[in-house]
Amino acid sequence: MEEKRNFDTDAIRTQHQRTPFREHSVPLYLTSSFVFDDAEQARAMFADEIPGNIYSRYSNPNTNEFIEKLCKLEGTEDGIGTASGMAAMYSSMAALLKSGDHVLACRSVFGSTHQILNIIFPKFGISHSYADVNEPETWEKKIQPNTRMIFVETPSNPALDLIDLEWLGKLAAKHNLILNVDNCFATPYLQQPAKWGAHIITHSATKFMDGQGRVIGGAILGTKELIKDIRFFTRHTGPSMSPFNAWILSKSLETLAVRMDRHCQNALTLAEHLEKHPDVKKVKYPFLPSHPQYALAKKQMKLGGGIVTFEIKGGVEQGRRFLNSLQMISHTPNLGDTRTIAIHPASTTHSKLSEEERAAVGITSGLIRIAVGLEDIADIVTDIDQAIAASR
Ligand SMILES: *Cc1c(COP(=O)(O)O)cnc(C)c1O
Repeated sequence: MEEKRNFDTDAIRTQHQRTPFREHSVPLYLTSSFVFDDAEQARAMFADEIPGNIYSRYSNPNTNEFIEKLCKLEGTEDGIGTASGMAAMYSSMAALLKSGDHVLACRSVFGSTHQILNIIFPKFGISHSYADVNEPETWEKKIQPNTRMIFVETPSNPALDLIDLEWLGKLAAKHNLILNVDNCFATPYLQQPAKWGAHIITHSATKFMDGQGRVIGGAILGTKELIKDIRFFTRHTGPSMSPFNAWILSKSLETLAVRMDRHCQNALTLAEHLEKHPDVKKVKYPFLPSHPQYALAKKQMKLGGGIVTFEIKGGVEQGRRFLNSLQMISHTPNLGDTRTIAIHPASTTHSKLSEEERAAVGITSGLIRIAVGLEDIADIVTDIDQAIAASR
């Protein structure tokens, strides 16, 4: 029996069995299908009587390794690799919901998750209500007789508001609802929602898991029973993770802990610097004592994460000038990269929302989101300071 190991060791030492070539690092299994030993094995594998790879839409050694590792890191029983984060969000909901069901979702979810709830699901008779992160007292009242799932993100993007996972886990259990948590911002290194009662944990692996801005991927993790139903859905609809992306992502997980430590350390240093800056109105970071939910952040997160937001004095025009003045920091929509990234949500990622909708999720017109990278923090601060000066 395998002994219980620690997070970093699991992330590094969970590895697919060696081939007769005795490779140290796991090879890339670029094969669409797998050969059967005999007719009886083929029958038994198709009948799910014995485990084994059949076809890479169902499973592949590279995706299996990636998922086995993530299950250890998140503390879940089973999981599925998906082609993107959105394939994970969509499949985890579509597989478990049917016409007439209702989803209670946190208002500040990722933009494409809004499109699924607002535009795609109504076509199939699946409805939703939004609840606000800052009004926990309203959540229970929004649960209907046909509510089947709660879907949330914490910390939220880009407002960095937190949801108390212990409270939410109890609420879901009380009403017998499936709790689905998009844990992309925190990663399992900072927060493990299954510990608080989440049944499904969804990820965009594109962000901190890849960590170097290379590939798109996602994961759905959870209880054996729920994953079984989701696996039926993904096996027959085909949002599979490519073996190449799984190979990249599994390798990347080996360095997740050391990278997250540095992302979080750089982010905290930047947040503390900006808080003292005369041209900055407001800074938000979960591990700043000025964050309204600082105590909750300390309780459910190991560190504050890699994202810092701040409000530049002025407004939209100053925000745009700030971005145009950056010399090193990248202006791109990704996050969780080695390279620091800045974005102005009001004019880009959240421009499809109305001003009131943006206000409801904490996006003011001068809000800048920094996904703090792994460069020397002194160089990150220098670039931000000179761009703030140039934006005046
Ligand atoms: C990026 C992101 C997604 C979507 O993931 P993709 O890999 O881009 O499909 C979902 N949720 C959150 C919180 C994200 O940041």
